[in-house]
Amino acid sequence: MCGIVAYIGPREAYPVILKGLKRLEYRGYDSAGVALLNSGLKVYKKKGKVADLEESIVGKDLHANIGIGHTRWATHGEPNDRNAHPHLSNGGRLAMIHNGIIENYAALKQELLKNGYHFQSDTDTEVLLNFIEYIQVNNNCSLEEAVRIALKRVVGAYVIVLIDQENPDTLIAARKGSPLVIGIGKNEHFLASDASPIIEYTKEVVYVNDYEVAIIKPDELILKNLGNERQTPYITKLDMELAAIEKGGYDHFMLKEIFEQPQTIYDCLRGRLDADLGTITMSGIEKYKEQIMNANRIVMVACGTSWHAGLVAEYIFEELCRINVEVEYASEFRYRNPVINKGDVIIAISQSGETADTLVAIENAKKQGAIILGVVNVVGSSISRVSDAGAYTHAGPEIGVASTKAFTAQLAVLTMIALKIAHDRGSIDKERYHRLLHELNDVPDKVKATLEQHEHIKAIAEKYKDSTDSLFLGRGYNFPVALEGALKLKEISYIHAEGYPAAEMKHGPIALVDEKLPVVFVATRDSYHEKVVSNMQEIRARKGRIISVINEGDEQSTALSNDVIVVPEADEILAPMISVIPLQLLSYYVGVARGFDVDKPRNLAKSVTVE
Ligand code: GLU
Repeated sequence: MCGIVAYIGPREAYPVILKGLKRLEYRGYDSAGVALLNSGLKVYKKKGKVADLEESIVGKDLHANIGIGHTRWATHGEPNDRNAHPHLSNGGRLAMIHNGIIENYAALKQELLKNGYHFQSDTDTEVLLNFIEYIQVNNNCSLEEAVRIALKRVVGAYVIVLIDQENPDTLIAARKGSPLVIGIGKNEHFLASDASPIIEYTKEVVYVNDYEVAIIKPDELILKNLGNERQTPYITKLDMELAAIEKGGYDHFMLKEIFEQPQTIYDCLRGRLDADLGTITMSGIEKYKEQIMNANRIVMVACGTSWHAGLVAEYIFEELCRINVEVEYASEFRYRNPVINKGDVIIAISQSGETADTLVAIENAKKQGAIILGVVNVVGSSISRVSDAGAYTHAGPEIGVASTKAFTAQLAVLTMIALKIAHDRGSIDKERYHRLLHELNDVPDKVKATLEQHEHIKAIAEKYKDSTDSLFLGRGYNFPVALEGALKLKEISYIHAEGYPAAEMKHGPIALVDEKLPVVFVATRDSYHEKVVSNMQEIRARKGRIISVINEGDEQSTALSNDVIVVPEADEILAPMISVIPLQLLSYYVGVARGFDVDKPRNLAKSVTVE
């Protein structure tokens, strides 16, 4: 969730902002815009690239010494010119940019509608902006005060930056959950989502903390908390290179995205799951809930990593909802002339929402009367538009070609849908439902604890990096995780890897096992565990080298394994979101150790828009 840049000082603001937005392009976005304050407030915005915006405003009056700019990655409302930022308040006095999600925007919007406000866009951003204006007008207070009062009512994550036409020498900014850096120059300030747009002007920066409001003039920076108390800005000296900043200090986008998962899973659950109240709110599927609850059959349609998420979901839906589920490769499903009955529910899973095979598969199914649910990361994408209903994964833009954070976010969304349907169908007992809700809440922390073992996993990767083949085995909920582990390894390291259900291995792949073959077992404690341990024995007896992903205290597996990675224990339904993490890291470190460009593996594309 994407880029903001703002400037106040003696320079021309537009070139600084434009260049800054280009620096933030790596983060991924769907539209761009600027607001400049000179004699009046001018807003220019456009769907598409920053270059499209630039081209569309050639010849306009762009002169200003104060301005804000934004690259949007849509969460509320599809990517188009109207929904692009900056937004203007109803009174026309304020312009605002925003990164993040205002979770309670619907309630705030109702309040504003009752008070005669109208909206130009579908965004949560415009709601917050008008809410701020509403408070400013009603309380007859300063913008700074209105922002503080408004933010106390806001649930969600944000960085906001506002320009007030009546106060042309001040920018107001605030943050919670999303990043904001302020660069300090000589009588000038630069604001951005990370330091990459700032570094060429100044090395002195302040990282704004959560719940802080910044009042920024050319020669003054004041930070306050929401209680109006002054906070001391802590100035840091930048010592990173540009490329390192873009990757958040990580060597590759893939690693950055792997490490983002505690946050992205949390973002995905936030505003939907309330474990204490025992509720899951998914407005996107509400309208079709009855049809899903009464479906004879659910068909998951997807490709690649998303197909693996579908397989995990098959196990979860069948167990919790007691509805028949099939998982289909979109490319096969679309050509096979499948039997589709009216009322079948198709769940299309895709990170980009543009996967060509998945798109055509659901278009065909829709014509035959199926209800389509989309589980998609990119808002406004083709699959989300074709779908009757659905839920976004809110994982933020994924830049690394090999999918990581999108997978765990898909699992989080699919798990929530299954739990909601199971609860409403009465197919899950109350105690289990509530326990699973609480455990789901704990998943981000467990993922974080798993990530802490990265050095240990790196050492294992070094040991096995020269292998030519590998086998990934798991059963039950961990079987699709084994498939995903094998896919990741071949994508990134070009080592031949096969994923199999651990028991099925006896029907063929066991012939490959010798003292050179690494066999990765995903063997966390679940109802299949004893059986998996027996499969480990079979590999051990044939001298295979075993790497196992297990839970604390699993002595049997430890004794059989050459290397173990211990992950926190979770209910078997939720375990895949945790047990996949070491496999992502293992693939990453093997790929790097072999000297490959892990962010852009050969022959692969991020969004497969050809069949
Ligand atoms: N939620 C806002 C929107 O959909 C901001 C998205 C962003 O962070 O770019 O417009």
